[in-house]
Amino acid sequence: MKRACITIQGIVQGVGFRPFVHRLAKACELNGSIRNTSRGVFLQVEGEESKILRFSVKLRSEAPPAAMIQEIKLQWEETLAGYSGFQIIASEEPSAMHTFISPDLAICPDCLRELKDPSDRRYRYPFINCTNCGPRFTIIRDVPYDRPLTSMAPFSMCPECAEEYHSIENRRYHAQPDCCPACGPQLTLLDAQGKPIEGDAIGLAKQMLRAGKILAVKGLGGFHLACACDAKTVQELRRRKQRDEKPFAVMCRDEASIAQICRMNAEEQRILNSPAHPIVLLEKKNRAQLRHLSDNNQLGVMLPYTPLHHLLFDDELPMLVMTSANLSDTPIVYKNSEALEKLRGIADAFLLHDREILTRCDDSLTSVLEGEEYPIRRSRGYVPYPLFVPGSRDAILACGAEQKAGFCLSKEGAVFPGQHIGDLKNYETYEAYAAQISHFEKLFGIQPNALACDLHPDYLSTAYAQERSEEQNLPLVRVQHHHAHMASCMAENGLTGEVIGLVWDGTGYGTDGTIWGSECLTGGYSSFQRCASILPIPLPGGDRAAKEIYRTAFSLLQLSGCDTSMIPAAEQLQLMLQENLNCPVSSGMGRLFDGICAILGIRTQASYEGQGAVLLEAAAAENETDAWPVTFTQEGELSRFDWRDMVRRIVEEQQAGIPTETLAARFLNTLVELAVQMCLLARTQTGLERVVLSGGSFQNRYLMQRIPEKLREHGFTVYRHHSTAPNDQGVALGQLMVASHQLLQQEE
Ligand code: ZN
Ligand code: ZN
Ligand code: FE
Repeated sequence: MKRACITIQGIVQGVGFRPFVHRLAKACELNGSIRNTSRGVFLQVEGEESKILRFSVKLRSEAPPAAMIQEIKLQWEETLAGYSGFQIIASEEPSAMHTFISPDLAICPDCLRELKDPSDRRYRYPFINCTNCGPRFTIIRDVPYDRPLTSMAPFSMCPECAEEYHSIENRRYHAQPDCCPACGPQLTLLDAQGKPIEGDAIGLAKQMLRAGKILAVKGLGGFHLACACDAKTVQELRRRKQRDEKPFAVMCRDEASIAQICRMNAEEQRILNSPAHPIVLLEKKNRAQLRHLSDNNQLGVMLPYTPLHHLLFDDELPMLVMTSANLSDTPIVYKNSEALEKLRGIADAFLLHDREILTRCDDSLTSVLEGEEYPIRRSRGYVPYPLFVPGSRDAILACGAEQKAGFCLSKEGAVFPGQHIGDLKNYETYEAYAAQISHFEKLFGIQPNALACDLHPDYLSTAYAQERSEEQNLPLVRVQHHHAHMASCMAENGLTGEVIGLVWDGTGYGTDGTIWGSECLTGGYSSFQRCASILPIPLPGGDRAAKEIYRTAFSLLQLSGCDTSMIPAAEQLQLMLQENLNCPVSSGMGRLFDGICAILGIRTQASYEGQGAVLLEAAAAENETDAWPVTFTQEGELSRFDWRDMVRRIVEEQQAGIPTETLAARFLNTLVELAVQMCLLARTQTGLERVVLSGGSFQNRYLMQRIPEKLREHGFTVYRHHSTAPNDQGVALGQLMVASHQLLQQEE
């Protein structure tokens, strides 16, 4: 017989961990106790040594799905205590709790079974949940995570639910949102005018969906607009939502329905079914299929994650469009009253319930590359899990960028990234952003004593940081955009020292006041050098060029000495360029994509951000391997890719009748070669061999399927994102790391 003390750190509270340990201890024939502490859980166990060891292994390997174990420490004790049975000891003072909070969790297999079991008392009850599943982050008002501090507070448990809740043997032990049809939230169906429709809400909602109606459906972190997937209905949804071509995600009843339309590998299947149930970008089986849903080769797909979703599907309705309910670029609608007001005229009916969503949280969007997860939008199901990043200083708030607003807070080696908020260009998003920061500060007990933000003077996130810095007299570190991208990728890969940062995106403010975006940097967290970029591209009309991409095409052609007569309004653009009238320059990779997309005649206008890149990728022939030569011109220390040779080649080959698909592929292949050449230049200068890849342009799968491989062939070690997004949502983490290092150096 032996006795051991075991401390477990990580997310082990509010995720059914104590009942799990209780059951495990019994199964391993151990006696002892468990209690929550400010740093995790503390266990004492007594029994045969081999059983204690087996127990400690299973603590990790069989932990509940939502638990996140950071560390398990086991210490043998000299004496036996003679425990009888296994006790759960009441929690310490809540104020001392180290507050990790679980994300929202998709319905678990046990609850799904009960949902479908006619003899179960929760048969077809849309709010069924247990310690392993259900809402968490989105229903929490404050910590500690207890029912009175959630939006389940108004629902008092019936005797049956209360018994489950208090019984350690029960799988609903301490499940805060536990409820049943007798005591819990209820569904209502309202018509387009907001008047209740009598009858079976689910049955009627399904009828409407089958009839081609558009429904606002309340989910976990906000409302979806749901409708059938046929072209006519989707077109109507696009018209009402004023969303021309941007792809829609779909929710499929099960994997078999997904398999009808998309290819899936094992990792994609795993992630689709993970507790987070994100949207996963899958490759369409047939490129030309479902164009009305997605204008490219991929489709965002998810599986039902709430009981309500499961009830909506059947054989006749195996797939629905499920898109965040919001008006262009404003945050997702999450309150009933807000839905009825803002979605009027868009939704034909509203499927609502009376469990309030307290925090909005959009669906996460992710993908798989080389068998590993590659996130695009980190939100529901992932937030508010922390990242454990060595070298982060305490109590920094990093304010992120703009287009994909995101923030990060640090505490004791953990970094808490905020959820997806959207484009910070309008006041509503800004309000949501500021409110979300306050909420995080409260939930995690972080009072920031330093701030970090982007260099861009016009970002609202910069304004927020500046204001707070002045009001609260806090130090503010301004971090160059691409340096932040590079640092975020370093941080999540646990890299220290110096690396090559290949950072390609649409736009980011440079240290010289121009827009950068095709950068090859070298350096570490504290500082960086700019090693290579591309020749700046003048954008006649500034921001207008992002939508009217023929403007960028004009600049590329004009500066390369090619004929521009086919470009609309060429004379006017010529004048702007000549006189340098409203012609800011940009070295953004996104702009190069736009311009080439227009030159190839794929598209002259973009209807959503990044469409140029998306369409080029979709157009590219699969087996074309040719690339055009990559040449650089020198500007002091900086090497700039001279795209003029390439543009001339494109025009020549186009005139020679080479198909667009071939040219699109050759252009992308040239970018692959450019990536290699940039890194080789950086290596020659510095001897560095580790490359981090970051920036929104690396969401391009064509590039990501080739660049890492090519770099490895040249002896580089390549790192990419696994936990945060390569796009601007990930920038906040990088800002936080750069600020950490600069402040820690000053503070030494
Ligand atoms: Zn469950
Ligand atoms: Zn009940
Ligand atoms: Fe960026």
